[in-house]
Amino acid sequence: MSELITRASSINRALDQIGDKWCLLIIQEVLWGINTFNEMMEAMGVSRGVLSNRLKWLQDIDCLRRETDAAGRHPTYHLTSKTIDLYDCALMAIRWERNWFDNPQLDNVQLRHRSCGQTFQPQLRCGHCSDQVILGEVRFQSGPGATRDVREKKVRRRSSIAASQIPSRRALYRNLINLVGDRWTANVIALSFHGITRFEEFHTELPVATNILADRLKLLVEEGVFVQVVYQERPLRQEYQLTDKGRDMFPWFLALLQWGDKWCDPQGKGAPVLVTHTGCNEPVEAEVCCSECGKHLLAHDVEFTLNGEVM
Ligand SMILES: [Zn+2]
Ligand SMILES: [Zn+2]
Repeated sequence: MSELITRASSINRALDQIGDKWCLLIIQEVLWGINTFNEMMEAMGVSRGVLSNRLKWLQDIDCLRRETDAAGRHPTYHLTSKTIDLYDCALMAIRWERNWFDNPQLDNVQLRHRSCGQTFQPQLRCGHCSDQVILGEVRFQSGPGATRDVREKKVRRRSSIAASQIPSRRALYRNLINLVGDRWTANVIALSFHGITRFEEFHTELPVATNILADRLKLLVEEGVFVQVVYQERPLRQEYQLTDKGRDMFPWFLALLQWGDKWCDPQGKGAPVLVTHTGCNEPVEAEVCCSECGKHLLAHDVEFTLNGEVM
């Protein structure tokens, strides 16, 4: 059987499109202005075949635009409106990476908000009350698009190349990509935000082969996203609870959910899941904001500097 039916979710739809390590790394390189095949291949340490395959896929889903010179040669790859809109996710990825990892590439980079002149940390804030949005202060409800999705079960194998082995010095959120670059791993994390903790519950919502699910849960425990807690002694039963590190991934997932609502709704039925901010009781409509002045961050208003030089 090559199809999988799950509850409709903008996070899953987004991950089915870009929840792949190489796709996420390509998008990151293009965000930094790396536009040619050879530059990407060198930066990512990826084989020619895999890179061609992912570039084609990203064009098929309108996440990259290919241009050539007048003679139809020297192709370059460029962001589309859809990928430019992943900017919030990129900033939330940087935030999580900063909070939980020593990442030399990232530690040397400073983010400066041009309009207030300050070095800042990106924060996800509610569009209505401006409070920071964190897990535990949101409520999920079914939305107008709460159907079920038939998904391709066939999945590229979880890449065996660890994020730390990616040569690119522009890989600012390599540890995040290491986890969410496998869509089943990311699906499991997303389910845990809905309060799911037990193997059987995960399996009901995500009916992949049990060995695949067990492998992803084990990885998430090893990576400190989940902790195993005994809930029954005889027979021994354990559940998977989010750690602080795991809970702190929520802003990235929420930014991805909003992106999926906007760009991955093929039938135009509307959001499958509505997210309400319990602090103000309004739909979240989260915005990535500057920690210093509190204003919504726009891509052209943010400067990345490496050792004092603009990247
Ligand atoms: Zn609010
Ligand atoms: Zn600012």
